[in-house]
Amino acid sequence: MPRMLATLARGLAAVTFPAACVHCRGVVETDAATGTPVAGFRHLCARCATQLDFVRPPHCSTCGHPFYGAAEENHRCPKCDGLEPAYRDGRTAVLFKGPARALVIELKYHRGLHVLHDMTEIFRRATHVVDAVRGGVLVPVPLHPRRARERGYNQSELLARALAAAAGGGTSVEQLLVRAVDTHTQTAFDRRTRMANLKNAFALAEGATLTAALHYILVDDVFTTGSTLNSCARTLRRAGALNLDVVTLGHG
Ligand SMILES: [Zn+2]
Ligand SMILES: [Zn+2]
Repeated sequence: MPRMLATLARGLAAVTFPAACVHCRGVVETDAATGTPVAGFRHLCARCATQLDFVRPPHCSTCGHPFYGAAEENHRCPKCDGLEPAYRDGRTAVLFKGPARALVIELKYHRGLHVLHDMTEIFRRATHVVDAVRGGVLVPVPLHPRRARERGYNQSELLARALAAAAGGGTSVEQLLVRAVDTHTQTAFDRRTRMANLKNAFALAEGATLTAALHYILVDDVFTTGSTLNSCARTLRRAGALNLDVVTLGHG
C-alpha cells in the first residue's frame, strides 16, 4: 500500500508541477494555453535546448564529427584513420556534451524512458541523419543479455525506435544482432585485447536474415572509438549487408 501511494503521489506531482530540465534542473517552460513546452523538448528548458550542438555537414564520413572552417566535403577525420570501417557512412545528430549528455545519462542510468520524446525531437531536427536513414532497416547495437536483464531495456533499441519515428517513410527497426560474449570488463584490458574480444562479440540473431537490396543502419547512443560499431558492422557485412551505414545520437 505505501508503495502504491508513493506511485500515486509521483503521478500527481508530474501532472501538477512542470518538469525539471535534466541538465540544469530549472523549469521547462510551457505555453500557458496549450501546455506544450515552448522549446519543443519536455525535459530541457529553453536555454539548455539552445545549447544542443547539432552537427551540420561537412562532417567526418566515418564518425560523424563536424569539420569547422575550410572543409567543404565529408571526408575521414584523423581520429578515424586507423579504424578501417566495415560500413560506408557514419553520422551523428549532436555532440555528446551538456544537455545531450544529460538526456543520454537519464535514459541509460536513471531508467528515464520519458526522455525518449526529446531524443525523437533531436533526431527530427538532425535532417542530415533522418534524410539518410529514411526507408531503411535500423539495427540497434545489442546489449549483453545480463545487462539487458539488469536494466530492463536496451537503450540503443529505444533510440532506434525514436529515430524510426523521426524519419518516418517506412523506416523499421530489426534486432538482427546478439551479443555473444560479455564485454562488461573490457575497460580492464589494453586496446589490443579489447579489439580481440570485440571481434567475436557479436553474432546474427537466431533466424535473422538479411537482404542485399535493403539499406541497413546500425544505431547506438554515442560514437566513441567506433570499435563496437565496427565489430557489429563486420558481422552484418558477413551476413550479406552490402548497403550499411552507422548513426549515433551523440559523438563523444
Ligand atoms: Zn536547463
Ligand atoms: Zn572521424
